[in-house]
Amino acid sequence: MNILILPGDGIGPEISLQLVKILKTCIIYGYKINILYNYIGGISIDKYNIPLNENVLNICKESDSIILGCVGGYKWSNSPIKPEEGLLLLRKKLNFFANIRPIKCPFKNIDFLILRELNGGIYYGKPKGISKQIINSIPSWYSYDTELYNEQEIIRLIKIGFNLSLNRKKRVTSIDKSNVLYSSKLWKKIANFISSKFQTVKLNHIYIDYATIELIKNFKKLDVIITNNIFGDILSDECSLLTGSLGMLPSLSLNNKSLSLFEPCHGSAPDIAGKNISNPIGIILSLVIMLEYSFNDKFLSNKLFYSIYKVLSYGFCTIDMKNYIKNFKIVNTNEFGDLINYFFFYD
Ligand code: NAD
Repeated sequence: MNILILPGDGIGPEISLQLVKILKTCIIYGYKINILYNYIGGISIDKYNIPLNENVLNICKESDSIILGCVGGYKWSNSPIKPEEGLLLLRKKLNFFANIRPIKCPFKNIDFLILRELNGGIYYGKPKGISKQIINSIPSWYSYDTELYNEQEIIRLIKIGFNLSLNRKKRVTSIDKSNVLYSSKLWKKIANFISSKFQTVKLNHIYIDYATIELIKNFKKLDVIITNNIFGDILSDECSLLTGSLGMLPSLSLNNKSLSLFEPCHGSAPDIAGKNISNPIGIILSLVIMLEYSFNDKFLSNKLFYSIYKVLSYGFCTIDMKNYIKNFKIVNTNEFGDLINYFFFYD
């Protein structure tokens, strides 16, 4: 199995290091894993003047799974090419259109997931830009973006959501803004149509504005959330409030082949990069979902998941979690990775 790790920028390398410790334990447990490394984001700009080169893309295509740390940072604020373009290019070129973000915390009885469309919508829709025009006789800047989805893009995403719910609580919540946006009206219509093909699954619709409240107030009622690119982006960051820290959420992106991209939901955290205080749970949980979804190994996936929560139940945590853990004892990134690996191996 070829697993390609793209650590990226900021805290990416230090959290990736913790992941590799766990991957090496998976090898001891019998997995035949070939770990490969390469560049994406700012580090790739520094080396090759582009945030993702063709060679890396080809290596991605030949891998069984890709694990990405995070990209971006202050260093490239004034760069004409941004590190984040590498990530958008990777998602687009390899057609990663479905992004699964499990929101799970046994301490609080939280267990639902967000399925976010990743390849379309306002982040990619054209036309987009900033131009100058005479408005009320004054030359003025104006800007525009396009929330663009076609029927096929919506159908393939929503079908995945319904299929995922079949192995869960059989509840799908579709989030849109169909009281205002045409793109959402089409989304809702298609969700209702697909729902009619899944008789055992219950579908409900919530507007995005109210969804931000439901997530915090009624998360126990949620099972599978389906939504577009921008709403999914914002809601999943909000979910970090539920689990404890932005550093604790993993994600899995699927394309129409068998390739998967695993990444934590957070950014490169340039404010704490290099200080050995970042939280590696997000990237390690990416391996938990890789074991479950890609390798169909529920046993090892659960073992790794509960190793993380065992460490937390003893009070060990990185500094970002101190307000969520009882009798907390702060450890650094390296120590935290070692503790998780210890329980994963010995317990
Ligand atoms: P961010 O997620 O990097 O950081 C937000 C806050 O959360 C910061 O205070 C940070 O220290 C903290 N944080 C994030 N991850 C953490 C972790 N694992 N452990 C402890 N604390 C953590 O978001 P931002 O500050 O808006 O963006 C910083 C850079 O990251 C920008 O260049 C942005 O474009 C980029 N970014 C990249 C990705 C990605 O690679 N997928 C996603 C979002 C943002």
